[in-house]
Amino acid sequence: MTIALIAHDSKKELMVQFCIAYCGILSRNNLCATGTTGKLVSESTGLNIKRYLSGSQGGDQQISSRISCGEIDILLFFRDPITPKANEPNDIELLRLCDVHNVPVATNIATAEALILALERGDLDWRAYGTPEL
Ligand code: PGA
Repeated sequence: MTIALIAHDSKKELMVQFCIAYCGILSRNNLCATGTTGKLVSESTGLNIKRYLSGSQGGDQQISSRISCGEIDILLFFRDPITPKANEPNDIELLRLCDVHNVPVATNIATAEALILALERGDLDWRAYGTPEL
């Protein structure tokens, strides 16, 4: 599975702590991230992470295009729900693409834990075979 990581500035420490806690599970998957998030997580955990540009430089859009190509299986996107962001439209587009392509996405740590534990149990294996017929 390929997991994408993005954290707004006020949530980066939370993302680092989350990745330390679930380092074992994360290490058995392919990881990618926006620039600064990926740098902080890889420095703290030693995880191998493909890093894209910083979010403000287009990293969010790079991950968006991978989602559109069906190359991302889970998105962990720890958003700051309080402070308005200059590139907020990109964030909304990213979440829209997750809905278009049926990509499980967590925007807070509670959902991220649920997703990572579901991944570990094998509950998300259907992603390897394409979207289930409903
Ligand atoms: P960053 O990008 O990881 O490069 O900071 C995330 C963001 O859009 O804030």
